[in-house]
Order: sequence, then structure tokens, then C-alpha cells
Amino acid sequence: MAGSEVLIIGGGITGASTAWHLAQQGHGVTLLERGDVASEASGVNAGSIGALGWGALPDLQAYLTMGSLEIFKSLQLDQGYDIEFRASGSLQAIHTEAQYEYARDRVLTLRSQGYSVELLTTREVLSMEPEANPRLLGFTYFPLRSQADPVKATRALASAASRHGADVITGREVTAVHVLGDSTFRVETDDGDIRSQVLVLAVGAWSGPLGKMLGLNIPIVPVRGQMWATEALPPKVFHTITSTESAYDWSLEPNGSGDAPPELTHRGKTRITRHLYGRQTRSGQIIFGGDRQQVGYDNAPDATGIEVNRGHAAEVLPFLNDVPVQRTWSGLMPFSMDGKPIIGKIPQVENLYIVSGLASSGFGRGPMAGKLVADYIHGGHRPQVLAECDPARCVTASGCPESR
Ligand SMILES: Cc1cc2nc3c(=O)[nH]c(=O)nc-3n(C[C@H](O)[C@H](O)[C@H](O)COP(=O)(O)OP(=O)(O)OC[C@H]3O[C@@H](n4cnc5c(N)ncnc54)[C@H](O)[C@@H]3O)c2cc1C
Repeated sequence: MAGSEVLIIGGGITGASTAWHLAQQGHGVTLLERGDVASEASGVNAGSIGALGWGALPDLQAYLTMGSLEIFKSLQLDQGYDIEFRASGSLQAIHTEAQYEYARDRVLTLRSQGYSVELLTTREVLSMEPEANPRLLGFTYFPLRSQADPVKATRALASAASRHGADVITGREVTAVHVLGDSTFRVETDDGDIRSQVLVLAVGAWSGPLGKMLGLNIPIVPVRGQMWATEALPPKVFHTITSTESAYDWSLEPNGSGDAPPELTHRGKTRITRHLYGRQTRSGQIIFGGDRQQVGYDNAPDATGIEVNRGHAAEVLPFLNDVPVQRTWSGLMPFSMDGKPIIGKIPQVENLYIVSGLASSGFGRGPMAGKLVADYIHGGHRPQVLAECDPARCVTASGCPESR
């Protein structure tokens, strides 16, 4: 039977980063993925990297975003990987007077907390983003926000892990997990068992099913995100582009409830807001998305949602009215019920860790989430900043973990 000191299940951005950072620290690491590295959310996302700065009092969000930004830069500039990283900045369109007031208050508050953000007039934005709709009321500008290619970035982390000695195994699915008497694990896969001393769950939207294998209830649900792309066009869009509409709507009525995570675009089948994010890739395609809908593990794009999103994008960049959609796709995001990540040690089972719940911004936060859980395992104590996302707050026992 194969064996490893640390076995990480899940070859998305969180698992690949955990593997790289643990391997760098000299641990024996196996990264196990049922498909290819980056075959789920980490490979199909928009590649937007959110960052506002460290702020006056750095919290978990600052660590995850700013730490990840440094890791992306390091992959591109120091480690020899071309992940198409670009410190492009981001522009958030303001469509209505009410959104303008909301954006102005938010910018003032964030600036007073030490974050990098500005309110710009549409005239100022037209000199930076010439295709922007001149009839919009203004834009919030986030100078630190960046972008990178999701598949290349995630695979770069896995490749860096391999270069440091990690064993990256793809095309093998975990089917059962057994906790042994000496608090080690026997992980059954569709191609043989693997023993490990430490187990890390980095399985994104599949945290619930993996938890069940261990007799645990991990409150993470799959939320479908979907996107569309144009054909390759000459350079036309220079920043990542978003809209204030959803943030404003969510601020009026936080839509989380006991049985749904906060900040979704739909309640059941009913749309409650429009969310928007997009950019132009290096290959020239313009890609946009935004919907966040709970549809279980059904992972097919919904044409109506794509059309709504395209209309929203064209309100910000009117030339998109004349460019056909060339392809659409979707993926499943790991949303926790309270909207916060779940990163750290699972108290019910010795030597079991989780890095998940990064929701709709796990590409931009995953690299540092992986580093923090690696630091926890390596150092043996919890990095203080992880107190905010302690699994102990929400992971419960749903039955006895199988012991053999
Ligand atoms: C359409 C879309 C757009 C998005 N846009 C952005 C964006 O612009 N910026 C941003 O920051 N975030 C974005 N996100 C969110 C981001 O992609 C996710 O939060 C992040 O990729 C989650 O990473 P992960 O490693 O937790 O999960 P995943 O990438 O889903 O990785 C989990 C892996 O575990 C594997 N796995 C599951 N079960 C098993 C098993 N039994 N055995 C073996 N392997 C298993 C899966 O195959 C999968 O590869 C977007 C997501 C989507 C879907």
C-alpha cells in the first residue's frame, strides 16, 4: 500500500498551494486529484484577483488576498511560470444614483480603514478604459486588483510542488476514508489504498461528500457560477470589470438564511440581483460571468442567466452588444452557510485539516489559504489569523468515523 506523510485530496488551487508550501518545508506530500489538476472551479473561473491592501488592522481577508497576490507575483516573476499575471486594477461601474451614494460611502469607509480604493468620474475612466459606457455615473477603482490565467496558475502551483518532491497523482478518485487506531488514515481510491499520517481536505464544493466519508457534517454547498466568452478580439478591455449592482442589493437585504449561503444572485429559481465580473484574456477573448445559483451538483450553464449577464456587461461596455457569445461554461463554487472560509484543523478527528469555503473568490484567495494551512501543519500551532475561519465553529459529527 502506498504511503505519505501528508495526503492532500483535491487538485484545485487550495490543494496545489498547500502541497507546494508543505513540500517547500520538507514534508513528504501526496496531492491526489480525481480529474486533472485545475479540472473543476480552479480551472474555469474568471481569473480575477481581488485585493484592497493590508489595511490598518490586517484581518483574515487581508491576509488571504494580499498574501495570495504576492504568491501570484512570485510565480510569474520569481519562479519562472508564465501564468499571465497582470496587475491590471479593477473598475466597478455605478449605474444609479442610489448605487453612487452607496459606493461613495463605501469608498470613504474603506479609505479610512487604510485600503486602496478610489471613486472616479466616468470621464477619468474613459481615459483608462476607452470602451466604457460614457452614460454611467462613475466607477469605483481598485488599483491592486489583478488577473491571471486560472489553469496556468493552478498548474504552476502543482508543478512547483512536484519540483519540491511532492507526488502529484491525477485521475484517481477517493471513494472512502478510514481513521485507523493510531490516528492515521487509510484512504481508499478507485485504484488502490493510500496510508497517511495527516489528511487535508481541499475538495472545494465536494467538502460535504468527503466529510460524510469521515462521519462529519461539513456545511459547504455547491453554488453554480457560469461564464461566457467572445471570440478573440484586439485589445479593448484593460482592467477587470465589475458592477456595483449586486453589492448594493446585498447591502440592502443580506440574503443568507439558515438553508442558503449569503450573497447569491438567486433565491431558489428567482433572480434577486445581477452580479458581474469579467476581463479580456491574453488570447483576446472577452470573458464575463456573475451568477451564483444553488442548483445542487447540476453543472450545466443556463442560457437565460448567460443572456442576463451579457446584457449587464453591455451596459458597462456597449461594444459587447455587437459581439456574439462564442462559448459558455460553468463550475461549482464552495460556499459555506455563513459565507466565511473554513480553514484549519477539524477538531473531531486527529490530524485532519480542511481548506475550503472560499466561495466566489477562491482563485484570488486560494494560494494564501493553502500557505496558511501548510504553516499550521508545519508549525503545529494555528496561525492567529485563522481564528476567524476555525472549522470548530460549524463542522459537526454526523455519525461515527469508521475506525479500523
Ligand atoms: C464560473 C466561476 C467563476 C469564478 N471566478 C472567480 C474569480 O474571478 N476570482 C476568484 O477569486 N474566484 C473565482 N471563482 C471561485 C474559485 O474558482 C473557487 O473559489 C476556487 O477555485 C475553489 O478552489 P478549491 O481548490 O477550493 O476547489 P476546486 O478547484 O473545485 O478543487 C477541488 C478539487 O477536488 C477534487 N475532488 C473532489 N472530490 C474528490 C475525490 N473524491 N477524490 C479526488 N479528488 C476530488 C475535484 O476534482 C477538484 O479538482 C469562480 C468560480 C466559478 C465556478
